Amino acid sequence: MRVRFRRGDTLWAYSRIFQVPLPLILDSNALDPVNIAVGQEVEIPGYIVTGYTVKAGDTLWQLARQQGLPVDALLLLNPNVIPDRLAVGSQLNIPLRVTWFIVDTIKPYDSAALQSDLNRLAEVYPFIRRRNIGASVLGKPIPELRIGRGAVTVHMNGSFHANEWITTAILVRFLNHYALSLVNGTPIRGLDMRQFYDVVTLSMVPMVNPDGVDLVIRGLPEQEPWRSRVLEWNGGSTDFSGWKANIRGVDLNDQFPALWDREAARNPKEPGPRDYPGTGPLTEPEAVAMAELTRSGDFARVLAFHTQGEEIYWGFQNLEPPESEVIVNEFARVSGYTPVRTIESYAGYKDWFIQDWRRPGFTIELGRGVNPLPLSQYGEIYERALGILLASLYM
Ligand SMILES: [Zn+2]
Repeated sequence: MRVRFRRGDTLWAYSRIFQVPLPLILDSNALDPVNIAVGQEVEIPGYIVTGYTVKAGDTLWQLARQQGLPVDALLLLNPNVIPDRLAVGSQLNIPLRVTWFIVDTIKPYDSAALQSDLNRLAEVYPFIRRRNIGASVLGKPIPELRIGRGAVTVHMNGSFHANEWITTAILVRFLNHYALSLVNGTPIRGLDMRQFYDVVTLSMVPMVNPDGVDLVIRGLPEQEPWRSRVLEWNGGSTDFSGWKANIRGVDLNDQFPALWDREAARNPKEPGPRDYPGTGPLTEPEAVAMAELTRSGDFARVLAFHTQGEEIYWGFQNLEPPESEVIVNEFARVSGYTPVRTIESYAGYKDWFIQDWRRPGFTIELGRGVNPLPLSQYGEIYERALGILLASLYM
């Protein structure tokens, strides 16, 4: 929601009027707080504006009280209204505090759904910083979201694997949950989320593989040669529910320079739905975008969300630091998932992170069943994942 700055206003006053923490207002606006021009638009996060038609007997005071706001809030949104002369039938802007999830993430979550939900979140919570870290083979943006201003950066990502797109829906719900909780001061599982804002920066790439996700959900792309090629690589079938790779048939979680040769030696040698590691590490733009982000991100820990198995992989070649075990035990406690130190797997994102940074990296396998996991599991998966998502901030 935007208000127009009046003579004598301050962002601190807005914080008081709307009961929104000042740092969230500051981070929602690229403004010098002590030098704001009269008439400048200022974003107030966590509110939307609704229209209201004045009825006989209405007063601004009573309308403000109904929203739990001081009358100045209504004056800010209705600069031309004379308070004691409300005309019956005239239109007022009423600020409405958002106390619900503004995006519905329980749906087939393709790249268009992601973009439209991120637009909605950016509108209501402009303190969420958004940029694109790269683009897919088909030119679709790969967005990164950041919340918080802390020195410790925690990174999480989803949908490295195409048919594991429910991980994106889970992450975007958490983004909404976190923002909602920050604005309103409502705890999540007893945790005051505002304590994290100045301490932790959350970095999230909810959909690493947009082309693959769209292939699984929407079917064949229009673009040649990919339309013909993926059909061939999929054995002529238009059912892509088993597809994990990107649109070039490369498994993006087999693309990282962490014993890549070992992974390549035992995996398919041709493009296909899964496990083909490419002709070398980091040949695919989606993997390159993730590598560049990670090299510049100074991440304290990374969580890569996959499905399925209800397990958490936390080791790689004994290179993981001792705190990895402490953290994974907390993840297991809050989710009921099983920690697994190592499996016969190389060239994964978390493998590479552990190898090159010697910091905690995790592959978290949400849910149980056959990919893509059905949306009927969404509620349970979110509840289990939520414990891990929260613990990643406080551990
Ligand atoms: Zn996976």
